[in-house]
Amino acid sequence: MNFIQTRGIDTTKPATVTFSEAILAPIASFGGLYVPETLPKLGSEFLEKHLNSSYKELAKDMLNCFEIDIDSSVIDEALNLYDKFDDRKNPVPVVKVKENLYISELYHGPTRAFKDMALQPFGVVLSSIAQKRRENYLILAATSGDTGPAALETFKNRANVQVACLYPHGGTSDVQRLQMVTEDAKNLKVIGIHGVFDDAQNALKRLLDSEEFKSALKEKHVALSAANSVNFGRIIFQIIYHIHSYLELVRQGAITMSEKVYLNVPSGNFGNALGGYYASKMCVPVEKIIISSNENNVLTKLIKTGKYDLRGCEVVGTTSPAMDILKSSNVERILFDMFGFERTRELMEDLEKKNFYELTTEELIKLQTCFDADYCNGDEGKKYIKDTFENDNYLMDPHTATCMKSYKSCSNQAIKTIAYSTAEWTKFSPVIANALTGEENTEDIAALESISKTASLAIPAMVKGLFSKEIVQNTIINKEEIEKEILEFI
Ligand SMILES: *Cc1c(COP(=O)(O)O)cnc(C)c1O
Repeated sequence: MNFIQTRGIDTTKPATVTFSEAILAPIASFGGLYVPETLPKLGSEFLEKHLNSSYKELAKDMLNCFEIDIDSSVIDEALNLYDKFDDRKNPVPVVKVKENLYISELYHGPTRAFKDMALQPFGVVLSSIAQKRRENYLILAATSGDTGPAALETFKNRANVQVACLYPHGGTSDVQRLQMVTEDAKNLKVIGIHGVFDDAQNALKRLLDSEEFKSALKEKHVALSAANSVNFGRIIFQIIYHIHSYLELVRQGAITMSEKVYLNVPSGNFGNALGGYYASKMCVPVEKIIISSNENNVLTKLIKTGKYDLRGCEVVGTTSPAMDILKSSNVERILFDMFGFERTRELMEDLEKKNFYELTTEELIKLQTCFDADYCNGDEGKKYIKDTFENDNYLMDPHTATCMKSYKSCSNQAIKTIAYSTAEWTKFSPVIANALTGEENTEDIAALESISKTASLAIPAMVKGLFSKEIVQNTIINKEEIEKEILEFI
């Protein structure tokens, strides 16, 4: 299958590209994105067929339906990485929390957050494309905490790929920082920056745009790529678990086949929600997709009012930092799917030039037939963490907790909800310990031990082990020195 472009075609790019090409150079004409030419229409037969399939069998068959230009053996190798998840028979457990609320846990991979769902297989796919083309790629990543560890973990020791990962020194949790600075492999470089996440992100954008930097790389026979969440190579793996979660509810007897459900998604860059949207178009019976946000609530406003309004907006730091995003990149793919490339280009140009766009009434109605949204602040989130633990004996992280408010405010309670849990409690332990007992911990280790006692949960070995692992990535520099540091690494 070929991939087309969300903002139409300029003269610099071919009209359609293959899956591999869309992965290697994810930015399309006029700064748009690549999307599949058509979505495979799988229908209820596909669900019936996979009622008793394993996660990997389901994944393999779904990927086959996209007819992508990746060898079958590479896809097998990529999907085998789900064997490293906590339960190799079921990498994504779906747990009943209340009468109508089920939580699909996307965090059972090596770095304990949902980024592993897509980045684990993506690493194998990207490395295999690079090897096949006999090219070497430098992946630049800027992280506020979850993408960095997941990208390092997946590309560790993979052929023809190097990773330079920038993080704000002092701006991530201890667990997130340790996951990065203890990663020991020749092809990985982790760079702490004196500054905040925006400094890391801006430095990355400058490098991606710098002709000088690119030609310096070219001399070393290295091309630049990015593993960020607009990459369709990540999105494709984020459709699978929505289908799987629906089938889990059928298997558990919670719903009958073809009964509609809500998908409730804690959202930032909208990759997870987009996967749900595609799954609903392909085969999953969905009543609505509910978008949950924190105080950075641009998506709630878009879905409630039709206005994407960034005028005078600044990102605020919250207790769910992986969702502290204002320009939610994957919304563009929804606009394209609903309104076509001309309108998408117009809206995205408005957003870039005026920091604002507004849908027409008909467009808003169309958007609202598929989506609803609400947001919750940090204090509300902590209350949901405590209440859900005390009343339902279920411990959730602050990202997942944003779903609890919209679950109440947006859903018809007669219809079942699948809410997605995007991080394990171990990754944001100070906030959770505070929610449960009121204690203030500045260090993760104290919070982890406290939660472990309060909730009678063992700290997973891979998290506990981090605190005694050797720190091998010691670089902490000023942002002016980043380019030199990366060129030396290569
Ligand atoms: C990345 C992330 C999100 C947001 O997911 P999107 O696909 O960007 O909407 C939510 N929670 C956690 C813990 C994350 O790491």
